[in-house]
Amino acid sequence: MGIPFNKPFLTGKEAHYIYQAVYSGKLSGNGLFTKKCQNFFERQYGFKKALLTTSCTDALEMAAILCDIKPGDEVIAPSYTFVSTVLAFVRQGAKIVFCDSCQDNPNIDPEKIEALITDRTKVIVPVHYAGVACDMDRIMEIARKHNLLVVEDAAQAVDSFYKGRALGSIGHLGCFSFHETKNIIAGEGGMLVINDERFIRRSEIIWEKGTNRSEFFRGEVNKYGWVDTGSSFLPSELISGFLWAQIENMELIQSRRKEIWDKYYNGLKPLADKRKCITLPDIPEYATNNAHMFYIVCRSLDERSSLIKYLKEKGIQSVFHYLSLHKSDFYTGNPEIRPENCIEIEYDGNEKRISGLELTHCDRFADCLVRLPMFYELSNEDVDYIVSSINQYFDNK
Ligand SMILES: *Cc1c(COP(=O)(O)O)cnc(C)c1O
Repeated sequence: MGIPFNKPFLTGKEAHYIYQAVYSGKLSGNGLFTKKCQNFFERQYGFKKALLTTSCTDALEMAAILCDIKPGDEVIAPSYTFVSTVLAFVRQGAKIVFCDSCQDNPNIDPEKIEALITDRTKVIVPVHYAGVACDMDRIMEIARKHNLLVVEDAAQAVDSFYKGRALGSIGHLGCFSFHETKNIIAGEGGMLVINDERFIRRSEIIWEKGTNRSEFFRGEVNKYGWVDTGSSFLPSELISGFLWAQIENMELIQSRRKEIWDKYYNGLKPLADKRKCITLPDIPEYATNNAHMFYIVCRSLDERSSLIKYLKEKGIQSVFHYLSLHKSDFYTGNPEIRPENCIEIEYDGNEKRISGLELTHCDRFADCLVRLPMFYELSNEDVDYIVSSINQYFDNK
């Protein structure tokens, strides 16, 4: 049957808590399980306020509203990321300014941010790729200097730290995902973290369809009504019940994932160090590893394609991502979402060529990075088999 790339892990309690939610008489959002989950995250990671959402994409949507993005505002984000990182800002009318990745890892290169700042810049969105922290002190210092907001895309970064501080707790806002491909899952699910107190009141209103319903339920106002913009961002109790079962088993999940990660790392180290065929993930000394992902970086696109094909023949599903966002059809095709003259598109017959944005590290990761199977139930034998298959591939070359 082969080794899949991902397999969602069930702790065994999910259906039980969903059953409890179903028969509790409270099915909609912001009930017992939602509060249990939010309290856990606030206590465990020092988040000022946590609000569960239906996805990280939705949490980012809330963040874009809270940042009060207006048409023409500029947002700086890495190009090597998932579409959702920038989508919410685009929907508010922002122009996206893409920044390159670091040389040693796909995170945004803080040294390249300042050159991109203009008087329209409002927000920086660092993405903690593979759950490994961006250099947040540097990014927060730039933000303070230029009076910008920082929204951490911590979709992959649950239970990961920067100099002892939880990711998602450092920027003004932080966004997490509980999609089934992440460490802690709810099928589809997410969370907005609010660290700047100025945003707390408004975040609850936006979360509850533009009403001050949360204040009403706390007895702070004697009726509730329409006070702001918003949407239905909160998940039902069925989703939160599922998530609670995962949270209860978080230590177990995290420790097994780290074992798998270390086994890959140690197994592939000779291939990286002695034979220089691949590069292994770089964990800077300020960052922890939450074992969200195990990836290797090949030397070329051709080598990556043939490695993925070879592993597939061996029954191993490995995948690549992301396609550089600055080269996407949507970005190149919509001048209103990018700063003037930031790229030039030349049409050569039917072929489209893009010049102007030189994001070389981003493009290299887009061409050369491979993600290996990574999930709780992956066995040690499977990891050994994957490691030896990768070695065989390079032996045969
Ligand atoms: C998964 C992911 C998202 C989107 O999360 P959803 O919960 O699926 O909306 C956003 N950004 C990054 C970096 C991700 O990995």
